[in-house]
Amino acid sequence: DASAKVIDGKAVAKQIREEISAEVSRMKETIGVTPGLAVILVGDRKDSATYVRNKKKACDNSGINSLEVNLPEDSTEQEVLNFISGFNNDPSVHGILVQLPLPSHMNEQNVLNAISIEKDVDGFHPLNIGRLAMSGREPLFVPCTPKGCIELLHRYDIPIKGKRAVVIGRSNIVGMPAALLLQREDATVSIVHSRTKNPEEITRQADIIISAVGKPNMVRESWIKPGAVIIDVGINPVDDPNSPRGYKLVGDVYYEEACKVASAITPVPGGVGPMTIAMLLQNTLISAKRIHNFQ
Ligand code: NDP
Repeated sequence: DASAKVIDGKAVAKQIREEISAEVSRMKETIGVTPGLAVILVGDRKDSATYVRNKKKACDNSGINSLEVNLPEDSTEQEVLNFISGFNNDPSVHGILVQLPLPSHMNEQNVLNAISIEKDVDGFHPLNIGRLAMSGREPLFVPCTPKGCIELLHRYDIPIKGKRAVVIGRSNIVGMPAALLLQREDATVSIVHSRTKNPEEITRQADIIISAVGKPNMVRESWIKPGAVIIDVGINPVDDPNSPRGYKLVGDVYYEEACKVASAITPVPGGVGPMTIAMLLQNTLISAKRIHNFQ
Protein backbone atom coordinates (compact mmCIF):
# COMPACT_ATOMS: atom_id res chain seq x y z
CA ASP A 1 0.00 0.00 0.00
CA ALA A 2 2.88 2.33 -0.75
CA SER A 3 1.55 5.64 -1.98
CA ALA A 4 4.40 8.16 -1.81
CA LYS A 5 5.77 9.52 -5.05
CA VAL A 6 9.43 8.56 -5.50
CA ILE A 7 11.71 11.55 -5.98
CA ASP A 8 14.15 10.23 -8.56
CA GLY A 9 17.46 11.90 -7.76
CA LYS A 10 19.31 9.77 -10.23
CA ALA A 11 17.16 10.95 -13.14
CA VAL A 12 17.24 14.61 -12.05
CA ALA A 13 21.01 14.47 -11.58
CA LYS A 14 21.41 12.99 -15.06
CA GLN A 15 19.36 15.80 -16.55
CA ILE A 16 21.39 18.44 -14.68
CA ARG A 17 24.65 16.83 -15.82
CA GLU A 18 23.46 17.02 -19.43
CA GLU A 19 22.65 20.70 -18.96
CA ILE A 20 26.14 21.24 -17.50
CA SER A 21 27.87 19.37 -20.36
CA ALA A 22 26.10 21.58 -22.87
CA GLU A 23 27.18 24.73 -21.02
CA VAL A 24 30.77 23.50 -20.70
CA SER A 25 30.89 22.90 -24.47
CA ARG A 26 29.41 26.32 -25.20
CA MET A 27 31.99 27.94 -22.94
CA LYS A 28 34.86 26.09 -24.63
CA GLU A 29 33.62 27.00 -28.11
CA THR A 30 32.90 30.63 -27.28
CA ILE A 31 35.87 31.71 -25.14
CA GLY A 32 38.19 28.67 -25.25
CA VAL A 33 38.05 28.09 -21.49
CA THR A 34 37.50 24.69 -19.89
CA PRO A 35 36.29 24.68 -16.28
CA GLY A 36 38.80 22.97 -13.96
CA LEU A 37 38.39 21.31 -10.57
CA ALA A 38 41.32 20.47 -8.26
CA VAL A 39 40.75 17.77 -5.65
CA ILE A 40 43.09 17.18 -2.71
CA LEU A 41 42.90 13.82 -0.94
CA VAL A 42 45.03 13.18 2.14
CA GLY A 43 45.50 9.65 3.44
CA ASP A 44 44.01 6.39 2.23
CA ARG A 45 40.48 6.14 3.63
CA LYS A 46 38.62 3.82 1.29
CA ASP A 47 35.35 5.78 1.37
CA SER A 48 37.13 9.07 0.63
CA ALA A 49 39.04 7.47 -2.26
CA THR A 50 35.74 6.23 -3.72
CA TYR A 51 34.13 9.69 -3.44
CA VAL A 52 37.14 11.31 -5.14
CA ARG A 53 37.12 8.71 -7.93
CA ASN A 54 33.40 9.31 -8.54
CA LYS A 55 33.89 13.07 -8.63
CA LYS A 56 36.71 12.71 -11.16
CA LYS A 57 34.61 10.41 -13.35
CA ALA A 58 31.71 12.87 -13.25
CA CYS A 59 34.05 15.71 -14.30
CA ASP A 60 35.38 13.64 -17.22
CA ASN A 61 31.84 12.86 -18.38
CA SER A 62 30.80 16.49 -18.43
CA GLY A 63 33.95 17.87 -20.06
CA ILE A 64 35.31 19.53 -16.89
CA ASN A 65 39.08 19.19 -16.34
CA SER A 66 39.96 17.51 -13.09
CA LEU A 67 43.26 17.53 -11.30
CA GLU A 68 43.89 15.21 -8.41
CA VAL A 69 46.50 15.40 -5.66
CA ASN A 70 46.97 12.37 -3.42
CA LEU A 71 49.01 13.07 -0.32
CA PRO A 72 50.14 10.43 2.17
CA GLU A 73 48.45 10.20 5.58
CA ASP A 74 51.56 11.58 7.35
CA SER A 75 51.78 14.76 5.23
CA THR A 76 51.99 18.02 7.10
CA GLU A 77 49.28 20.65 7.16
CA GLN A 78 51.79 23.01 5.51
CA GLU A 79 52.08 20.67 2.53
CA VAL A 80 48.31 20.76 2.06
CA LEU A 81 48.33 24.57 2.44
CA ASN A 82 51.05 24.81 -0.23
CA PHE A 83 48.93 22.90 -2.72
CA ILE A 84 45.91 25.07 -1.93
CA SER A 85 47.96 28.21 -2.44
CA GLY A 86 49.20 26.88 -5.80
CA PHE A 87 45.63 26.17 -6.94
CA ASN A 88 44.39 29.54 -5.66
CA ASN A 89 46.88 31.14 -8.07
CA ASP A 90 46.38 28.73 -10.99
CA PRO A 91 44.11 30.28 -13.64
CA SER A 92 43.19 26.86 -15.07
CA VAL A 93 41.64 25.88 -11.71
CA HIS A 94 38.16 27.25 -10.96
CA GLY A 95 37.24 25.00 -8.06
CA ILE A 96 39.26 23.60 -5.15
CA LEU A 97 38.00 20.78 -3.00
CA VAL A 98 39.69 19.18 0.00
CA GLN A 99 38.13 15.79 0.68
CA LEU A 100 37.06 15.56 4.34
CA PRO A 101 37.72 14.23 6.89
CA LEU A 102 41.38 15.23 7.09
CA PRO A 103 43.80 13.18 9.22
CA SER A 104 43.43 14.11 12.88
CA HIS A 105 46.82 15.88 13.10
CA MET A 106 45.55 18.56 10.73
CA ASN A 107 43.38 21.54 11.59
CA GLU A 108 40.37 21.43 9.29
CA GLN A 109 39.58 25.08 9.97
CA ASN A 110 43.04 26.28 8.86
CA VAL A 111 42.82 24.22 5.70
CA LEU A 112 39.31 25.32 4.69
CA ASN A 113 40.11 28.95 5.48
CA ALA A 114 43.02 28.82 3.03
CA ILE A 115 40.83 28.10 0.00
CA SER A 116 40.07 31.25 -2.01
CA ILE A 117 36.37 31.99 -1.55
CA GLU A 118 36.15 32.50 -5.34
CA LYS A 119 37.13 28.82 -5.78
CA ASP A 120 35.38 27.33 -2.74
CA VAL A 121 33.09 24.98 -4.73
CA ASP A 122 32.26 22.93 -1.61
CA GLY A 123 30.95 26.13 0.00
CA PHE A 124 32.59 25.34 3.36
CA HIS A 125 34.65 28.53 3.72
CA PRO A 126 33.35 30.42 6.77
CA LEU A 127 32.74 33.52 4.65
CA ASN A 128 30.49 31.58 2.30
CA ILE A 129 28.65 29.93 5.22
CA GLY A 130 28.37 33.30 6.99
CA ARG A 131 26.82 34.92 3.93
CA LEU A 132 24.43 31.98 3.63
CA ALA A 133 23.28 32.67 7.19
CA MET A 134 22.78 36.44 6.72
CA SER A 135 19.82 37.99 4.97
CA GLY A 136 20.70 40.29 2.11
CA ARG A 137 24.07 38.59 1.55
CA GLU A 138 24.88 36.14 -1.20
CA PRO A 139 27.33 33.28 -0.76
CA LEU A 140 29.53 32.63 -3.80
CA PHE A 141 28.85 28.90 -3.39
CA VAL A 142 26.28 26.80 -1.54
CA PRO A 143 27.37 23.40 -0.11
CA CYS A 144 26.60 20.64 -2.61
CA THR A 145 24.52 18.14 -0.62
CA PRO A 146 22.02 20.62 0.87
CA LYS A 147 21.88 22.47 -2.46
CA GLY A 148 20.99 19.15 -4.10
CA CYS A 149 18.17 18.61 -1.57
CA ILE A 150 16.61 21.99 -2.38
CA GLU A 151 17.10 21.46 -6.11
CA LEU A 152 15.11 18.21 -5.86
CA LEU A 153 12.25 20.05 -4.16
CA HIS A 154 12.32 22.71 -6.90
CA ARG A 155 12.42 20.27 -9.78
CA TYR A 156 9.43 18.39 -8.32
CA ASP A 157 7.52 21.67 -7.83
CA ILE A 158 7.26 21.10 -4.09
CA PRO A 159 6.46 24.43 -2.44
CA ILE A 160 8.77 25.52 0.42
CA LYS A 161 7.57 29.04 1.20
CA GLY A 162 5.50 29.19 4.39
CA LYS A 163 5.90 25.45 5.01
CA ARG A 164 7.08 23.86 8.23
CA ALA A 165 10.42 22.15 7.67
CA VAL A 166 12.39 20.00 10.08
CA VAL A 167 16.04 19.17 9.51
CA ILE A 168 17.36 16.20 11.46
CA GLY A 169 21.10 16.65 12.02
CA ARG A 170 23.16 19.84 12.35
CA SER A 171 26.53 19.01 10.79
CA ASN A 172 28.52 21.76 9.11
CA ILE A 173 28.38 19.99 5.77
CA VAL A 174 24.70 18.96 5.57
CA GLY A 175 22.25 19.69 8.40
CA MET A 176 23.22 23.25 9.27
CA PRO A 177 23.44 24.59 5.70
CA ALA A 178 20.24 22.69 4.77
CA ALA A 179 18.39 24.51 7.56
CA LEU A 180 19.80 27.87 6.41
CA LEU A 181 18.77 27.21 2.81
CA LEU A 182 15.22 26.23 3.79
CA GLN A 183 14.98 29.42 5.82
CA ARG A 184 16.17 31.48 2.84
CA GLU A 185 13.35 29.83 0.89
CA ASP A 186 10.89 31.12 3.53
CA ALA A 187 10.18 27.86 5.33
CA THR A 188 9.74 27.86 9.11
CA VAL A 189 12.60 25.66 10.20
CA SER A 190 13.27 23.51 13.27
CA ILE A 191 16.44 21.52 13.82
CA VAL A 192 16.48 18.17 15.59
CA HIS A 193 19.80 16.78 16.87
CA SER A 194 21.18 14.16 19.24
CA ARG A 195 20.12 16.11 22.36
CA THR A 196 16.56 16.83 21.18
CA LYS A 197 13.88 15.44 23.47
CA ASN A 198 10.92 13.71 21.80
CA PRO A 199 12.19 14.26 18.27
CA GLU A 200 9.15 12.56 16.74
CA GLU A 201 6.88 15.18 18.28
CA ILE A 202 8.75 17.81 16.28
CA THR A 203 9.17 15.88 13.03
CA ARG A 204 5.46 15.06 13.05
CA GLN A 205 4.71 18.75 12.49
CA ALA A 206 6.83 18.95 9.37
CA ASP A 207 5.57 19.42 5.84
CA ILE A 208 9.16 18.82 4.70
CA ILE A 209 11.72 16.63 6.49
CA ILE A 210 15.39 16.63 5.54
CA SER A 211 17.23 13.92 7.45
CA ALA A 212 21.05 13.88 7.69
CA VAL A 213 21.96 11.76 10.69
CA GLY A 214 23.65 8.51 9.72
CA LYS A 215 21.38 6.14 11.68
CA PRO A 216 19.68 3.42 9.61
CA ASN A 217 15.86 3.45 9.62
CA MET A 218 15.64 5.86 12.56
CA VAL A 219 12.66 7.84 11.27
CA ARG A 220 9.55 5.65 11.63
CA GLU A 221 6.01 5.99 10.37
CA SER A 222 4.91 7.64 13.63
CA TRP A 223 7.47 10.44 13.08
CA ILE A 224 5.84 11.54 9.83
CA LYS A 225 2.81 13.75 9.23
CA PRO A 226 0.54 12.31 6.52
CA GLY A 227 1.40 13.97 3.22
CA ALA A 228 4.86 15.16 4.28
CA VAL A 229 7.75 15.29 1.79
CA ILE A 230 10.90 13.45 2.86
CA ILE A 231 14.45 14.07 1.67
CA ASP A 232 16.68 11.37 3.11
CA VAL A 233 20.38 12.26 3.01
CA GLY A 234 21.56 9.36 5.18
CA ILE A 235 23.68 6.66 3.61
CA ASN A 236 24.00 3.74 6.00
CA PRO A 237 25.40 0.27 5.32
CA VAL A 238 23.41 -2.55 6.98
CA ASP A 239 24.07 -6.31 6.86
CA ASP A 240 22.32 -8.07 3.99
CA PRO A 241 23.11 -11.76 3.51
CA ASN A 242 21.21 -11.70 0.18
CA SER A 243 23.61 -9.20 -1.35
CA PRO A 244 26.89 -10.43 -2.87
CA ARG A 245 28.69 -7.66 -0.94
CA GLY A 246 27.09 -8.80 2.32
CA TYR A 247 25.58 -5.39 2.96
CA LYS A 248 23.18 -2.89 1.46
CA LEU A 249 22.69 0.86 1.84
CA VAL A 250 19.65 2.34 3.56
CA GLY A 251 18.68 5.86 4.58
CA ASP A 252 17.89 7.40 7.96
CA VAL A 253 14.22 6.94 7.16
CA TYR A 254 12.43 3.58 7.32
CA TYR A 255 11.54 3.65 3.63
CA GLU A 256 8.73 1.07 3.46
CA GLU A 257 6.93 2.65 6.42
CA ALA A 258 7.46 6.20 5.20
CA CYS A 259 6.03 5.33 1.78
CA LYS A 260 2.67 4.66 3.45
CA VAL A 261 2.32 8.16 4.93
CA ALA A 262 4.56 10.55 3.00
CA SER A 263 3.42 12.20 -0.23
CA ALA A 264 6.92 12.06 -1.74
CA ILE A 265 10.27 10.58 -0.71
CA THR A 266 13.82 10.15 -1.97
CA PRO A 267 15.12 6.57 -2.13
CA VAL A 268 18.54 5.50 -0.85
CA PRO A 269 20.48 4.92 -3.00
CA GLY A 270 19.33 6.98 -5.99
CA GLY A 271 18.05 10.08 -4.17
CA VAL A 272 20.31 12.76 -2.76
CA GLY A 273 23.59 10.93 -3.47
CA PRO A 274 23.69 11.53 -7.24
CA MET A 275 22.56 15.14 -6.71
CA THR A 276 25.62 15.95 -4.57
CA ILE A 277 28.04 15.29 -7.42
CA ALA A 278 25.81 17.09 -9.94
CA MET A 279 25.87 20.17 -7.66
CA LEU A 280 29.67 20.00 -7.43
CA LEU A 281 29.89 20.10 -11.23
CA GLN A 282 27.38 22.94 -11.27
CA ASN A 283 29.39 24.92 -8.70
CA THR A 284 32.56 24.40 -10.76
CA LEU A 285 30.79 25.67 -13.88
CA ILE A 286 29.35 28.65 -11.98
CA SER A 287 32.86 29.48 -10.75
CA ALA A 288 34.45 29.30 -14.20
CA LYS A 289 31.67 31.46 -15.66
CA ARG A 290 32.05 34.04 -12.89
CA ILE A 291 35.86 34.19 -13.09
CA HIS A 292 35.74 34.62 -16.89
CA ASN A 293 32.64 36.81 -16.83
CA PHE A 294 30.87 34.43 -19.23
CA GLN A 295 27.08 34.45 -19.35
P1 NDP B 1 27.56 13.91 11.10
O1 NDP B 1 27.89 12.68 11.86
O2 NDP B 1 28.56 14.96 10.91
O3 NDP B 1 26.27 14.58 11.76
C1 NDP B 1 25.19 13.82 12.19
C2 NDP B 1 24.16 14.70 12.85
O4 NDP B 1 23.08 13.88 13.29
C3 NDP B 1 24.68 15.45 14.08
O5 NDP B 1 24.25 16.78 14.02
C4 NDP B 1 24.05 14.69 15.24
O6 NDP B 1 23.70 15.52 16.34
C5 NDP B 1 22.77 14.18 14.64
N1 NDP B 1 22.29 12.99 15.35
C6 NDP B 1 23.00 11.91 15.75
N2 NDP B 1 22.21 11.03 16.36
C7 NDP B 1 20.97 11.55 16.36
C8 NDP B 1 19.73 11.11 16.85
N3 NDP B 1 19.58 9.94 17.46
N4 NDP B 1 18.66 11.91 16.65
C9 NDP B 1 18.77 13.09 16.02
N5 NDP B 1 19.93 13.55 15.53
C10 NDP B 1 21.02 12.80 15.69
O7 NDP B 1 27.02 13.37 9.69
P2 NDP B 1 26.87 14.11 8.27
O8 NDP B 1 25.98 15.28 8.39
O9 NDP B 1 28.19 14.26 7.65
O10 NDP B 1 26.12 12.95 7.45
C11 NDP B 1 24.85 12.49 7.85
C12 NDP B 1 24.45 11.32 6.95
O11 NDP B 1 24.36 11.77 5.61
C13 NDP B 1 25.42 10.15 6.92
O12 NDP B 1 24.70 8.95 6.77
C14 NDP B 1 26.24 10.41 5.69
O13 NDP B 1 26.77 9.21 5.14
C15 NDP B 1 25.21 11.01 4.78
N6 NDP B 1 25.76 11.90 3.76
C16 NDP B 1 25.28 11.76 2.50
C17 NDP B 1 25.71 12.60 1.50
C18 NDP B 1 25.11 12.45 0.15
O14 NDP B 1 25.69 12.87 -0.82
N7 NDP B 1 23.91 11.87 0.02
C19 NDP B 1 26.73 13.63 1.73
C20 NDP B 1 27.11 13.75 3.12
C21 NDP B 1 26.65 12.89 4.07
P3 NDP B 1 24.80 16.29 17.25
O15 NDP B 1 25.16 17.50 16.47
O16 NDP B 1 24.05 16.58 18.49
O17 NDP B 1 25.94 15.34 17.43
